[in-house]
Amino acid sequence: MAHEFKLLINGELRGGVTQFPVLNPATEEVVAMCPKADETMLDEAVAAADAAFPAWSARSHEDRVAVLSKLADAIEQRADELAHLLTSEQGKPLNQAQYEVMGTVGTLRAFLGMRIEPQTLRDENGNRVVEHRTPLGVCASITPWNFPVILLFNKLAPALLTGNTLIAKPAPTTPLTTCLIGEIAADILPAGVFNVVCDENELGSKITTHPKIAKVAFTGSTATGAKVLASSAGDIKRVTLELGGNDASIVLDDVPAKLAAERIYQGAMANAGQICVAIKRAYVPRSMYDEFCAEIAKLAEAAVVDDGAKQGSTIGPIQNRMQYEKVKGLIEDSKTRGKIVAGGEIPDRKGYFIPPTIVRDLDDDAPLVKEEQFGPVLPVLAYDSIEDVIARANDSPYGLGGTVWGMDLEAATAVAMQIDSGTVWVNQHLAIDPNIPFRGSKKSGMGGELGMAGLMEYTQAHIVNAVPLAQ
Ligand code: NAD
Repeated sequence: MAHEFKLLINGELRGGVTQFPVLNPATEEVVAMCPKADETMLDEAVAAADAAFPAWSARSHEDRVAVLSKLADAIEQRADELAHLLTSEQGKPLNQAQYEVMGTVGTLRAFLGMRIEPQTLRDENGNRVVEHRTPLGVCASITPWNFPVILLFNKLAPALLTGNTLIAKPAPTTPLTTCLIGEIAADILPAGVFNVVCDENELGSKITTHPKIAKVAFTGSTATGAKVLASSAGDIKRVTLELGGNDASIVLDDVPAKLAAERIYQGAMANAGQICVAIKRAYVPRSMYDEFCAEIAKLAEAAVVDDGAKQGSTIGPIQNRMQYEKVKGLIEDSKTRGKIVAGGEIPDRKGYFIPPTIVRDLDDDAPLVKEEQFGPVLPVLAYDSIEDVIARANDSPYGLGGTVWGMDLEAATAVAMQIDSGTVWVNQHLAIDPNIPFRGSKKSGMGGELGMAGLMEYTQAHIVNAVPLAQ
C-alpha cells in the first residue's frame, strides 16, 4: 500500500483538513497526497510547542544531545527511503539526494558537538557579570523546495539543541520528506517539541504573525523574505532570513580555461542550478573568453538530463512548473540578446526538463545577468581588468556567495576580499560546513545559520550582574 503521509502535531501523526497532490517533476505524476493543515491546526501545533517548551528547555544539554543523537541515528537508518522520496518530490538525481540526506545527518551531529557556555564578562572587586544564553521559546522553520531536508535541519538542530521547540512548514511542492521526518521524530522526540504542518502557501503569513511564535527562521526568495520581515515586526519576533543570490564567479588569467570551465560548470549546474549559492554569472578574461565558452559548452552538451531516479542522470528536472516557466522565459529572452552556445532547446517530453544552457555575449543589463535564474542556465561574460570585474560582480542587490579561481592563491584571495558577499570561496565551491557560519549580505539575508553563530541565533542574552550587598 502507498505510504500515507501525516502531519505531526503534539506528538500525534494526523491527517489534514484536506489533502493536496505532490507531483514528481520528472513525470508530472502524483507521488502522494499531502495532508493540509488549516489555521486551527497551526494553532494546535503552536499550543503544543508552547506547552512542551518548559520541560524541554529545562532538560540538561547532555540529555537533549542524547535525544537528538537518536534522531540522527534514525534518519541515517532510513536514509535510503528518504533519498528516494526526495528524488521523487524534488527531482534531483538519486546520488545527490543521498548526499543531501547524509549531509543532513552530518549537520545534526556537528551541531550536537557544539555548546554555548556562559561567558564571564567581568569578575572584579566582587562584581561578577555573566552572560548566559537562554532559548527563545517556540520557533518556526519555513523552507523552500530546493533542499527540503538539509535546510530544515539547519534550523531544527540548533533550535532543539538550545532548548527551543519547533514548528516546521515545508514548501508546498516538496512537503513529503518533512512529513517523513516528522514520522521518524514522533517516536523519538517528546510530544510538541517538533511539529509539522503543511500548506499550499496559506500558513506562512499566519506563522509570521502568530503571537506565540518567538522566532521565524526562513529560507526562500528575497521577495517572500521581505514579507516575513515586515509581518514579524508587530511582535518583534526574532527573524533569520536566508534569501536569494546572484553569485559571480571570477576566473583569473593564470587559470587554464579547461580547468576553470570544469569547476564553474559543476558550480552552476549542480541540483539543476537550483542552489542559493549556485554560480549564476561567470566572468572570464577577454583573452580566454572563446576558449572558456567552448570548453564549458562541451560539458553542457555531455550532460545526461533525465529523471533523477534513472541511473546515470546528471541533471534532473526543475522542481516545479512555475520555476520551469521562469527559466524558459529567461532562455527565450537571452536568445534575442546574446548567443546560446549549448542547450537552449526545451525537450518535448513530460517533466520540467531544461538542458544545461550556456549563453555568451550578453550585456550586463540582460535579465539573465541581473536576476537570479535558479536553473541550469549560465551567462558567461568577458572582463578587461580586475577593477572592472570586481565592480561588476558587486553591482547586485544580492550578496550571498561568490567564487574566485586563480593559480596564485594570494592574488585570488585578494580579489575575494573585495567581493561584497557573505561567503566567497577561493578555488572551491559550495564548501558549506556545519561548523562555519553561513550568511548573506545586502538583500541575500539577515542573521545566519550554521556554526556557533547559527546556534546563538536561537538564544537570547541573559546577563546576570551581581555585587555583594553593602551594609
Ligand atoms: P519562496 O520564497 O517562494 O518560498 C519559501 C517558503 O516560504 C515556502 O515554504 C512558502 O510556502 C513560504 N511562504 C510563501 N509565502 C509566505 C509568506 N507570505 N510568509 C511566510 N512564508 C511564506 O521561495 P522558493 O521559491 O520556495 O525558493 C527559492 C528561493 O529560495 C530562491 O530565491 C533561493 O535563492 C532561495 N534560497 C535561499 C537559500 C539560502 O540559504 N540563502 C537556500 C535555498 C534557497
